[in-house]
Amino acid sequence: MKTTGKVTGIISNLVTVECNGPVSQNEICLIDLQGVKLMAEVIKVNGSKASVQVYESTRGLQIGNTVEFQDHMLEVTLGPGLLSSNFDGLQNNLATMEDVFLKRGEYTKALDEDKLWDFTPIVEVGQQVVAADWLGEVKEGWLPHKIMVPFNFEGTYTVKSVAQAGQYKITDTIATLTNAEGEEVKVTMMQKWPVKVPIGNYLEKPRPFKVMETGVRCIDTLNPIAEGGTGFIPGPFGCGKTVLQHALAEQADADIIIMAACGERANEVVEIFTEFPELRDKHTGRSLMERTIIVCNTSNMPVAAREASVYTAMTLGEYYRAMGMKVLLLADSTSRWAQALREMSNRLEELPGQDGFPVDLSAIISSFYARAGYVTLNNGKSGSITFIGTVSPAGGNLKEPVTESTKKAARCFYGLSQNRADKKRYPAVDPVDSYSKYLEYPEIVDYLDNKIEKGWVDKVTKTKYIIRKGKDAYEQINILGDDGVPMSYHEQYWKSELIDFVILQQDAFDEIDGSTPLDRQKFMLDLVLDICDRSFKFDNFEECMNYFKNLINTCRQMNYSEYQSEQFYKYLGQLKEELNHE
Ligand code: ADP
Ligand code: MG
Repeated sequence: MKTTGKVTGIISNLVTVECNGPVSQNEICLIDLQGVKLMAEVIKVNGSKASVQVYESTRGLQIGNTVEFQDHMLEVTLGPGLLSSNFDGLQNNLATMEDVFLKRGEYTKALDEDKLWDFTPIVEVGQQVVAADWLGEVKEGWLPHKIMVPFNFEGTYTVKSVAQAGQYKITDTIATLTNAEGEEVKVTMMQKWPVKVPIGNYLEKPRPFKVMETGVRCIDTLNPIAEGGTGFIPGPFGCGKTVLQHALAEQADADIIIMAACGERANEVVEIFTEFPELRDKHTGRSLMERTIIVCNTSNMPVAAREASVYTAMTLGEYYRAMGMKVLLLADSTSRWAQALREMSNRLEELPGQDGFPVDLSAIISSFYARAGYVTLNNGKSGSITFIGTVSPAGGNLKEPVTESTKKAARCFYGLSQNRADKKRYPAVDPVDSYSKYLEYPEIVDYLDNKIEKGWVDKVTKTKYIIRKGKDAYEQINILGDDGVPMSYHEQYWKSELIDFVILQQDAFDEIDGSTPLDRQKFMLDLVLDICDRSFKFDNFEECMNYFKNLINTCRQMNYSEYQSEQFYKYLGQLKEELNHE
């Protein structure tokens, strides 16, 4: 018998319910409003009183309305057909634009239950399997999609029968398994999973040890992100968070892209729906949407749905990771998620932490980031979720709680600087403040030694040192004047400018410049460092400035189209020759 209850109080989306039976934390319930069922989640239980957060407007709700508890938490439906979909935070499939504005109490099915999929079995009758083992495969678009033993199956099962190769719906039985007691269970191609519980069916989760190539030079060259790693991009409005995330989605060496758009306004959601399908898959030339899932919030969804969306996105990521895929999960912006947490916590009248955020904000963010990672599956194959979230700190203040908490949770920090954005130095990632802790991992150093060249990380450290020295020199020149500092200060400053203009600045919208493969990044850094290694004997600062300006201008002009970029490399190459001859 399901627990039921009656509404006893309403404050905006927070509703208190008197219950007639057991209710658990995070359980889903449906509140009846004249036949319309409003979905809500239990966020607090106290004796027979439950506080529930309604996922939509509570307009018209009255004391005494009946509530039916569902005996499960907020779940996602997992199965073939997720790719190319636009979902909201509750996994309503927003297949058409009108659905962005779903009516109250209206929920759509996440997956198409009528579609036929070409199934091929992987297991054989008699084989022993456990949760998450691969039973078969269907082609989801052009990607192999594994049909797995449901993640909530406990213990070992024996395959009693498995469907022959052929066409099946996601609701058809594709295998019958028997457990140790000889009980039979039927498995379909679809399963459900509670979004706030990590899918943990893997052998182990080693520390990330590979680098994920993104084609973005300020990331790959200076502060690489690991496959299965975590990073975040804090930045004021208009500094390039979204552009950078789109570049990563298009270019990063990932199989599956999951984009969580948190708490965006309706017009921004429409923008994502129209922009994303136009993004091209730089690896295959096809539409990026074919291997993308978008999870977003819509303007008519209040706080609890906004809070849910990042979890829904992460769970979808974990599902594809269990198939042995490299997943890139992007969330823009996690500040809206944190704001949702704050609103909920405030309504519950919890003791507020800093700036009114929940006291355990840091723990919530950390445990979310901890769901990313590189895993070894039971069958020895591997899968990963690399997670990069943006943070939009109010007024660009990096000392605010969401940025500070995220800093503790994420291993890479790509801080966007207002100053760089104002100067149109894009991507505005601050080269001095940003970091990748992966460069401190011996296994990553080894990986780069093998992948790029021995001693690569030392080169990176040296490059960062030149940039830092250049910044210091710039400050001194500003204070003491052009003639007030030794000539070496000018040289240091201009060397760092050379690195800035040639390596760091990158036009995300340029066909060629937008994405640079790792071997080219090495080539470019080598050429630039070659110049930086030289000690020049300029007679005056103007000569120094003119020399480097000239160099930078030539490089910059030549960097923006294929033909010219070839020229650019040639030019730098020639320059190197000339320098060697001097
Ligand atoms: P945010 O999401 O931080 O508010 P956007 O990503 O929307 O900012 O970027 C704002 C604008 O900055 C873009 O419309 C674009 O003109 C410019 N921009 C940002 N990054 C780049 C880049 N890498 N290359 C070229 N232009 C950029
Ligand atoms: Mg943005």
